[in-house]
Amino acid sequence: MEITFLGGAGEVGRSGILVDNGYRVLLDYGIKIHNETEYPLKVKGGLDAVVISHAHLDHSGFLPAIYDHYACPFFATYPTALLAELLIKDSIKIQERIPFRSSSYKRAFKHYSPLEYNTGFDVEGAKLTLYDAGHITGSSLVKLEMGKALLYTGDFKLEPTRMEKGADIPKADILITETTYSEREHPPRKELEKRLSAEVRRTLENGGNALLPSFAVGRSQELLQILYDLNNEATVYVDGMAKTASELVRQCPRFVKNFKEYEASLGWAEFVDSREQRAKALKEPSVIITTAGMLEGGPVFNYLLNLNSKSKIIMTGYCVENTNGWHLLNKGLVYVKGKPKPIETPVEYMDFSAHAGRGDLLELIKRASPERIFCVHGDHTEQFAEELKGMGFDASAPKIGDKERIF
Ligand SMILES: [Zn+2]
Ligand SMILES: [Zn+2]
Repeated sequence: MEITFLGGAGEVGRSGILVDNGYRVLLDYGIKIHNETEYPLKVKGGLDAVVISHAHLDHSGFLPAIYDHYACPFFATYPTALLAELLIKDSIKIQERIPFRSSSYKRAFKHYSPLEYNTGFDVEGAKLTLYDAGHITGSSLVKLEMGKALLYTGDFKLEPTRMEKGADIPKADILITETTYSEREHPPRKELEKRLSAEVRRTLENGGNALLPSFAVGRSQELLQILYDLNNEATVYVDGMAKTASELVRQCPRFVKNFKEYEASLGWAEFVDSREQRAKALKEPSVIITTAGMLEGGPVFNYLLNLNSKSKIIMTGYCVENTNGWHLLNKGLVYVKGKPKPIETPVEYMDFSAHAGRGDLLELIKRASPERIFCVHGDHTEQFAEELKGMGFDASAPKIGDKERIF
């Protein structure tokens, strides 16, 4: 078996791994979308299948480029396909130039075959099985059995959240794992939920708005569920792409941990679809969940720049360096039409990560008990691989373009 790392190696973004034992499978094909968009290396030679682990653009955004040249099947869970289509369409709109035909994204979805969790699917010379990754709705760990069993984590999380039960880890011989947070732990979810709830309550009692900039897929739905349970007295507005993503998740009841409660939370919140409603949301004490999570696009600026002095901004997601979210957290300002603008409203960061922390990564390795480990999708992959070696594992941190032969 030969594994080629096309992207997402020694970095976060543009994940892409080609596995070849005669049958050639591409695992994820994403883009790195900040500042200038970066793409993974091109697939050379034939391709028999593409598997997308989950909808986030760093795993799915370059999928259309495959269908400029190939007509192979594309496998993913149903929610991954639905949500990836939403995110890919949106990313095509916001990128200035795309290095593929825009019609190719439609071709990709014509070749789509849905897969369920825990149900092996036989393809020529290989068996493909998806397991719940506990990261976002429909996210999967991908297991490929080709003589040896290879497990690719995509992004995963073990700790349960409101929307996710936590990853379900099978045994494997070869493990390719994300290592985004190999250096630290995340605070326990329950503690964070209480902090969020208390902060929201305090802000509303003071007469302010609690502004929660959120990723459309995953975080928005989770925040809504938390507030529905712990701050039921509040008025909650949902705006931006978070609305469509929440509606798409509603179409996947089998993939939602507590669907009844999820539906009830959607019925409870107000979905913003007019200017008047936006103004109304700011006139009364309310919670506003809106895209974009890193303050790059979406209606979040309409709110951010018009908050009253009693308001609070609560950031719950990772912000890539030099995005407006990052500037707000680190410098107390955002860029409006290229000019820095200081933001007076207090900002608080709460680490609601959908990724594995260090403990989760070590637990994954224990459960999968692989003979070989490749560390990808992180800024400290080499360091983590060294640490694993020190613990007696055969681990390495490949670079983009590296090929590894497994016998
Ligand atoms: Zn992800
Ligand atoms: Zn990722």
